[in-house]
Formats: sequence, C-alpha cells, structure tokens
Amino acid sequence: MKLFKKAKTFHGGVHPNEYKELTENSAFEIMPNPAQIIVPISQHIGKPAKPLVKKGEEVKAGAVIAEPDGFVSVPIHTSISGKVVKISKESNVSGAPKHAIIIKANEENEVELMPSLNPDTLTPEEIRARVKEAGIVGQGGAAFPTYIKLTPPEDKKIDYVILNGCECEPYLTRDDRFMLERSNDIIAGLKLAMKALGVEKGAVGIEDNKPEAIDVMSVAVQDEPDIEVVKVKTKYPQGAEKMLIKAVLNREVPPGKLPLDVGVVIQNIGTAVAIADAVIKGEPELTAALTVSGLGINNPKNLIVRVGTPLADILEYCGGVKDNAHKVVVGGPMMGVAQFDFAAPVMKATSGILVLTEEEIKAHEETPCLNCGMCVGVCPLKLTPTKLARYAQLDKIDEAEKLGISVCIECGTCAYTCPANIPLVQWIRLGKERVNQLKNDKKSA
Ligand code: SF4
Ligand code: SF4
Repeated sequence: MKLFKKAKTFHGGVHPNEYKELTENSAFEIMPNPAQIIVPISQHIGKPAKPLVKKGEEVKAGAVIAEPDGFVSVPIHTSISGKVVKISKESNVSGAPKHAIIIKANEENEVELMPSLNPDTLTPEEIRARVKEAGIVGQGGAAFPTYIKLTPPEDKKIDYVILNGCECEPYLTRDDRFMLERSNDIIAGLKLAMKALGVEKGAVGIEDNKPEAIDVMSVAVQDEPDIEVVKVKTKYPQGAEKMLIKAVLNREVPPGKLPLDVGVVIQNIGTAVAIADAVIKGEPELTAALTVSGLGINNPKNLIVRVGTPLADILEYCGGVKDNAHKVVVGGPMMGVAQFDFAAPVMKATSGILVLTEEEIKAHEETPCLNCGMCVGVCPLKLTPTKLARYAQLDKIDEAEKLGISVCIECGTCAYTCPANIPLVQWIRLGKERVNQLKNDKKSA
C-alpha cells in the first residue's frame, strides 16, 4: 500500500460549502419496501430495455422484467415482489417522462438471486457476463452499462483501474459511508474489474476531507501491493474522470478523448460494491444507495432503497420537508436535476435527494457580464465559459464548437463562480444540444 502524503489535484475548480456534516456520520439505513414501485425501462445510457411482462402478471423480487435491447443496454429487474399494474409513460427524475413498469407490492419478501460465483476461478468473460446479467450501471451519474466499460476496444491498452472515492459534490456522503462500511467489498469489486480488464494496477482516489475513509481503505489494501490509496485535494470537480486521472496518475486526457485513450478505466465506489455483490452474493442491482440531505428535510439520512421507490415515499420516510423548503434536487447541487413531480422514482444511479432552502440556493438576480474572467480561471478544462454561453445564446454554434463547447463536462463550476449569476452551464448545455442536433441533421441530409 502506498499512501501519498501530499494531496494531489488539477487546474481550476472551486470550494463550495460542503454541508457533509448533515449526514457523514449517518450509517446506511435500509428503508422498508414501498407499496408500489415505478421501474423505468431506461435507467442507463443506450437503448431502453424491452419489457418482458404484461399487466396483471405476478413477479418475484429479483426477476428480470425487461431484457437488454442491443449492445448498449442492460436488463431491468423488479426490486419487489408483486403484480404488474401498468406499463406506461411516467414522470422521471431526469425531467422527461419515460416508459416504466409499475408494480404493486404483495406480502412476499424473498428475493430471487443468481447463483453465487467464486471470484478466484472466474474468467474475464464470466465476470463481464455476470455484471451484465445483474444489470449494473455506473453509479457516477452517467449510468453507463458497466459491462461495456469492462469491454474496451482491442486497440486500447488499459493498465489502470481507478475507483472514484472523491464524492466532490456538496452534501453527498453515500460513497464515504460505503468506504467506511464496506471497504473489503469495494476492494473485491475493484479486483474483479481489474481481472475483467486484464489490468494489474488499481487505485482508489479519495478527497482529503474524508480522513476516516482514507484510513479504512488503506487498511483494506494493506495486503494488496498493486492497489494504492491516493489522497487527492478536496476541490470541485475533483471526481470528474479527467480531473481524477490527472490527480492520481498525472496523465492528461486530451480534449475530445476518453480515459481509455490514456489507459484508464474509472469506476465509482458504489459500482465496485455492486460488482462484488453480483458475483459473490448473486445479487442483481435492485437497490440504490443515496444521501437524503439539505437544510429543508427534517431527518437527513443515508439510505438503501428499492429501485423504483417514489421520491415522495423517501421524503416522508425522512420526516418530511420543512416549511422553508424551496427546491428538491436529485443528485448533487452542482450537477443535479431540480424536481417538480415527487411521484418520480429513484433509479439505479440515483446518488442523492436534496431538499434545499432559499438560504442554501442563494438565488440572486442575473446581471450583465462583468468581464471579470473568474469563470475562465476556475474552468478545469481551461475553456472560456463566458464566450461559450454567449455563442450558445446567439446560436453561433460553429464559433462555440471552435472554442471547444463539446468537451465541456457540464460540471457547473463556472456558473457557481459567476458574480453576475449568469446561468452559464445551462446556456452551454443548450449549445451542446444544438451541436448534436446539427450533426444529426447533416447525417440524415
Ligand atoms: S461547466 Fe464546462 S465550461 Fe463551465 S467550468 Fe465546467 S467544464 Fe468549464
Ligand atoms: S464569471 Fe460571470 S461575470 Fe465574470 S466573466 Fe464570467 S460570465 Fe462574466
């Protein structure tokens, strides 16, 4: 085990208020099963899964209810036993309604597991097959099917797997809790990912605001000479893939390129736990681990909930919202999505639900740009957010593309810093959508 003394980091970034103290000492609690789950058939990047069940059918927790459709797709399981009552378009935490299978719970609590496997005797193909069968997706937000990340193109030589233990978004503490409560399973999951990729070196990058997690994870790797725990500086967006690779390995991912291009695969801490559980215990991805926090919720907690549980049930389980609650966000405050319909369900990659008050949001009126350059100084990719947003506003998409709008990771650091309160990242997101739209139009012309 090698533990770097000095915390490593990257260019730019910001230090928002952390608010981690609200939940960092709250051990995971398992929330009782809800009366009904809403299971979207698209909880991953790629093609939605194809439903295998019909209205009126009885299903047992753990059963596959939708099968993968194409290469970039994963199966969807039911997280509770019960009866399919509807398959329809339902509200979704992403903001846009999505097709979902609605299941009303019965009294049965037993879960249908897959056979348990021995990690020591599995081949890389067998590990990938199990990860796919379990329906595992990346827990870092993008929900990319994990088995694909473990199947890099043949011409890409991978030599490192890094686990992302930064959890740089304010409020969220679920990865911290995973590291404190399930360190050995995390390392088991990391070793399975390394074996699937034929890689000998692994690392866990952890921000220096989690000293206890650094200690616990260091103990978990003390007999693993090829895995190191790397302390990185607490700074947003330290957990973004390119920033983490720079901090841990001092490798630069060029604009427009992927971690694979510099020999690295990154997995989230929760994904490593899911891989270990799928292989060793035979568990499909039936639960989401999340932080429920913010000054507007009565009892902040870290919870394990069934995938498909409505947000409203979770808010109620946490004692309900306070009178001064102003906004509910799914994810972290920097990259999360504001919610308007609390019937929307938790998905596999949901990492948090925040109930924020006006005091936390610090909503101020937008004023004209002050040309202060602060947004440029903090952008971790050295972009010029002020110009990108301006070009997006004016629909000057060619100019925006020349300045690299497509490589923006939408971390929100620029918008957070802007003293004029210009919604830079929203404009940039819109500009990126226009870039894609124009590309698709050209293809179909
Ligand atoms: S949102 Fe994009 S432009 Fe703004 S700081 Fe992040 S990477 Fe830079
Ligand atoms: S931080 Fe805001 S005010 Fe300053 S240059 Fe950027 S867009 Fe303008």
